[in-house]
Amino acid sequence: MAGEPQDDCLFCKIVGGRVPATVVRETETTVAFRDINPQAPTHVLVIPKAHHRDAATLAAADPAALADVVREAGEVAADEKLESYRIVFNTGSGAGQTVWHVHAHVLGGRGMQWPPG
Ligand code: 5GP
Repeated sequence: MAGEPQDDCLFCKIVGGRVPATVVRETETTVAFRDINPQAPTHVLVIPKAHHRDAATLAAADPAALADVVREAGEVAADEKLESYRIVFNTGSGAGQTVWHVHAHVLGGRGMQWPPG
């Protein structure tokens, strides 16, 4: 069922404490933790605790939960003292999504190019 923990989901395992992660923030509905393969000096992933596959699916099922994720992304940026940063939701394998539990990448601490690769 939408939102229920999935046994085979890496990020559900992080939410449940079954896979370790460097957690930097946690709320009732979200967890933020450092990416294991950082692409910038700050690279934090913000996820909803509920399992949804991507940002649009979460927006349709629970708009407030998506707002929580985006607000927490901003809080991570503030904690990290980032003046500029990027929030990325890779959606679909062609766009680079590899984990099918929605996550916002918060990237900052270096210059960035546009358009992204
Ligand atoms: P995606 O490619 O789906 O947009 O992003 C998935 C992200 O999860 C990648 O940036 C990847 O480095 C990160 N990741 C994959 N496995 C782990 C893990 O076990 N722990 C943490 N902290 N990050 C992970």
